[in-house]
Amino acid sequence: MKKKRNQKGMISVLLAVVILGIFLISGMMTYAVSSGRLPLHAKKAEIAEAHALEVSSNSTSSAENETSIPETSASTTETSSTEEAVEIKDPAQLAPGKNHNDAASEYAYSTAEVRGIINGEISYEGPRVCFLTFDDGANGVITPKILDILKAEGVPATFFVVGKEVGEAMRPVLTREIQEGNAIGIHSFNHDYGLLYPNGTANPGQIKNEAIQAQTALKTLFGDDFRTNVWRYPGGHMSFSNMKAADAALAESGMEWIDWDAMTGDAEPASRRPKNAQEAVAFQEKSMAVYPDNQMRVVLMHDAEDKNITVEALPQIIEFYRQNGYTFGVLE
Ligand SMILES: [Zn+2]
Repeated sequence: MKKKRNQKGMISVLLAVVILGIFLISGMMTYAVSSGRLPLHAKKAEIAEAHALEVSSNSTSSAENETSIPETSASTTETSSTEEAVEIKDPAQLAPGKNHNDAASEYAYSTAEVRGIINGEISYEGPRVCFLTFDDGANGVITPKILDILKAEGVPATFFVVGKEVGEAMRPVLTREIQEGNAIGIHSFNHDYGLLYPNGTANPGQIKNEAIQAQTALKTLFGDDFRTNVWRYPGGHMSFSNMKAADAALAESGMEWIDWDAMTGDAEPASRRPKNAQEAVAFQEKSMAVYPDNQMRVVLMHDAEDKNITVEALPQIIEFYRQNGYTFGVLE
């Protein structure tokens, strides 16, 4: 009984193999007849490549390809490998662990180094680099206008955002900042001098906590791949006491601070503040004289809601730096 059953089993297996063989042979014949084979394959590869590049599809040739089974499976593997080969990285993609996208990696500079250079602690004779910086954002009024100008000029900037402004409402603006090749730094969470520097003396614990809070808010928007190491003290590092302890507390959470060595004066007291774009441009040029020999310029500006003069002056500020041989970088 056992033997008989085995024999029957073997016969049905053999039958199955024979049927499968016929299937395969007829399939290959159809394939050989219906296609021009190699030349057509080459064509398909070209078509697939063109599609991947132009992102336009829906050609009749791909519909024809689907009529014969072996051909379709062959062309599928070919297409997918071709797409891999020509795949272009999304330029808006966040560089992992960074405060900017992949494209901005080419002109991103170490904050600690730039700080040393503008402070005169590190000697630098290299090409001139300008870092446009904007504090106090993000907002839906001025920040988009600044972004429009930067985009039109093809120039990047670093935005020092206030943590409490970082939320869903500002997602489009903050996403643009990254997508368009800019960088994001932190300008505290609350921007409250009384909390950060009670009686003019830095509170290191508060400062560190605000850095972490703002970082968390940014990660909530951008995901865990985002990380900024860049911090600007509200009011500036030079304005308060106990700053060594504050710097050390920031360093514990991986943050490097940076001030500036040029400014448009857009947050100066009213008596000194430029009243139009021309005055802002003049103020900026004059401010450079404080550090006459610096080859790197970190330009302090603001993108708070009332900074229309900064928006008006920005194209001329950019032009000034272009005329003087500067390229533009971001801080990381
Ligand atoms: Zn500020």
